[in-house]
This record gives sequence, structure tokens and C-alpha cells, in this order.
Amino acid sequence: MNVLVINCGSSSLKYQLFDMSDESVLAKGLVERIGIEGSKLKQEVEGKEELVIQVPMANHKEALGHVLDALQDNAKGAIKALDEINAVGHRVVHAGEKYSGSVIIDDGVMAALEECIELAPLHNPPNIIGVKAMQELLPHAQNVGVFDTAFHQTMPQSAYVYALPYEYYEKDHVRRYGFHGTSHKYVSQRAAAMLGKKIEDTKIITCHLGNGASLAAVDGGKSVDTSMGFTPLEGLVMGTRCGDIDPQIITYIMAKEGKTIDEMNDIMNKKSGVLGISGVSSDFRDIENAAKEGNERAELALDVYHDNVRKYIASYAAVLGGVDGIVFTAGLGENSISSRATICKNLEFMGVVLDAEKNNVRGKETFINTDDSKVKIMVIPTNEELMIARDTVELVK
Ligand code: AMP
Repeated sequence: MNVLVINCGSSSLKYQLFDMSDESVLAKGLVERIGIEGSKLKQEVEGKEELVIQVPMANHKEALGHVLDALQDNAKGAIKALDEINAVGHRVVHAGEKYSGSVIIDDGVMAALEECIELAPLHNPPNIIGVKAMQELLPHAQNVGVFDTAFHQTMPQSAYVYALPYEYYEKDHVRRYGFHGTSHKYVSQRAAAMLGKKIEDTKIITCHLGNGASLAAVDGGKSVDTSMGFTPLEGLVMGTRCGDIDPQIITYIMAKEGKTIDEMNDIMNKKSGVLGISGVSSDFRDIENAAKEGNERAELALDVYHDNVRKYIASYAAVLGGVDGIVFTAGLGENSISSRATICKNLEFMGVVLDAEKNNVRGKETFINTDDSKVKIMVIPTNEELMIARDTVELVK
């Protein structure tokens, strides 16, 4: 069975076509600047030259039309006809409290996703447009929704209720939802396999450290706590997001600096995090380089970041009542040797002992703990697309 996985962002879309008989990637591509001047599609197919299409693409439907053409391209494509695509898996950000797993998308699901737009006003609309476009362009294929929030629906109420008047949960659905669920699910499953244990018997802390970042406490394969909250803004310090701050700071700055709600949202989401502290960049490579050259604010940004991740790891050990494994994944988690080493410092008391030599690795699935470390430490490259393709096959087969 061939499964097309689609991830629609506001002005971009990523796709991968899988042959699920052996989980191989037949094609992968990226469309950027959708609806903006300079739209561009790039596609890679193993053993073939890269395909680039540069024509105006006014919306996601037009872009997906070009994706289907690219997949069927005579010289640089991967399939001969559209009926070789059997199903489509869509990454959808928010499903509210409605779904705790992936689902085949029908009219009822579409209505539920539309209802969730108020919870994810930036993310759900392009996801929904992507589904509608594929329903029209590939009417023979079933569409499956795989939600970022679904994996965390197993959290107990004590982990997801905020200490606000309860009516805001009941009336306005204000609660912790958590995100990056597909990634936390994939790496926790891989971790159990690496540990040689049944997932039901594992306690794992998954650290998804990319530009956006979150941790999850995964008990027996189920998320029991996670650091992102009602929105992806809560939790860890990120590339440009502030993560946890005293909520009173918001009204204080608004009053003192005369900022509007939109300006505050922009500051907290796009101008804060390690970018805000360092003033250098949101990219950790730039910050690490600046810190090496003696930039004190870059150094401070890294210190704040590392302390914050370490604090969350220790608190999730308490949530789980013990830890078998800690997983580092996503851009920084998979690649930053120095960040992993610094985060794990001071965790020896709870049996987390990093092996400096084994830690000298990037982007490869491996253990990086010493032989006698009670808690295993793993680098596991995340693969959200494959997880989406697996869920899709499971539902449509
Ligand atoms: P992601 O959102 O998962 O694509 O991760 C992007 C983040 O990973 C960016 O902030 C990058 O700076 C960071 N990153 C990627 N490679 C490295 C590396 N070799 N060292 C440090 N950070 C890295």
C-alpha cells in the first residue's frame, strides 16, 4: 500500500510518499511560499535528479495539484498514475478533546476539526484546506487525520486542568492539550524497542528539542504529562517562544509599554526564547558559535535553556516515579552534543550518566549512557511522517 503523508503549514507544505510494504520512502518534497510571490516545489526521489517547479501557487489546493503532477513526473517522479496512491495521512495539529487517536476523516471529523479552529487558529485552517483539496483531487483515496494533540489525551485530569476557575475549562475548553504528540509517540515506541521491553513496562521521558520544544512523561506507552499546554507556548524555553513565565508579566508589560494583545502574542511567540535572551538568533548553532566567541548573552541563553530542560526532566521523573530511559530527539536533541551533555549534568543523582564518547554522535539512533548508568539515554531521530503513514495503514487496511 502506498501512503501519501501531507503536512500543511500556513504558507508551506511537506509531503512524503511511502511504500508501506517495506516502509520505504518513494518520494519526499516541500512546497514553500504558497500564496506568496516565488512559490517553489522541490522533490527528491532516490536515484533521480531533484525536481523543481517554480510557478505561482495561489493556495494549498493548487500546490497539492503540483505535488500530484510532480509525483507522476515521467523522468523525476515516483509513480505512473494517481491510483498508485492508496491513502493519504494528514498531520492535523488540534483535535481538542474529541480524539485520542488517529481517525478516518469523514464529514463528522471535518466538523470537529472546524470546531477546533478557535483552539488552533494558525494551524488547523491550512490542515483542513489540505484535507479538502485531497478529497477533491484524489477522490478514490481515504484520508486519515493524525493529530498532534491525540497522544496526550491519556493525561490524567490532574495533569491537564489549570488552577483557574473551573468554568473556563467547562465553558471555553481551557486545559493542557500538549503538542508534538506524533513525535513523542514514535520515539517512545522506538525507545521501548531499543530497551528490549514491552512498551507497557516502560517509563520514558521524551525530549523533543527542536525550534519548538516539549517534553513528555510516557508511562507504559501513554502520555501522562507534557510541557506544552493550551497552546504550544507553554513549557520549555524555545527558539522564539518564551515558554513558562509568570503570567502577570504579560499584563505588566502591556500596561507599562502600551502593548496590544496582538503585539504581546507576537513578542511571546516570535521574539522571545533563546532569540530574545541572546539577541543573536533562534538557531542554536548560531547561539553556540556566538557563545564560543565570548558573547555573554548567547551563553546566558544556553544556560537558561539547559537548566529549564533539566528541571523538566527531573520533575517528570517524579511524575513517573522512576525512569527507564530518556530520549533526545528533533533538531537540537538529535544533533547538539554539547546541549545533551549539559542537560544531563547534575542528573547523576538519579542514575542518569552520560558517556562523553558515545554522546559524540549526530542524527543516529543509539544509546549515549555509560554501561553502568541506571537510566538509559538515547538519541532517536524522530519520524513523524512514518508514524502518520503507519496510523493511516492501520485504519484503512
Ligand atoms: P527542528 O525544529 O526539529 O527542525 O530543529 C531545529 C533546531 O535544531 C534549530 O534551532 C537548530 O539550530 C537546531 N539544530 C540543528 N542541528 C544542530 C546542530 N548540529 N547543533 C545544534 N543545534 C542544531
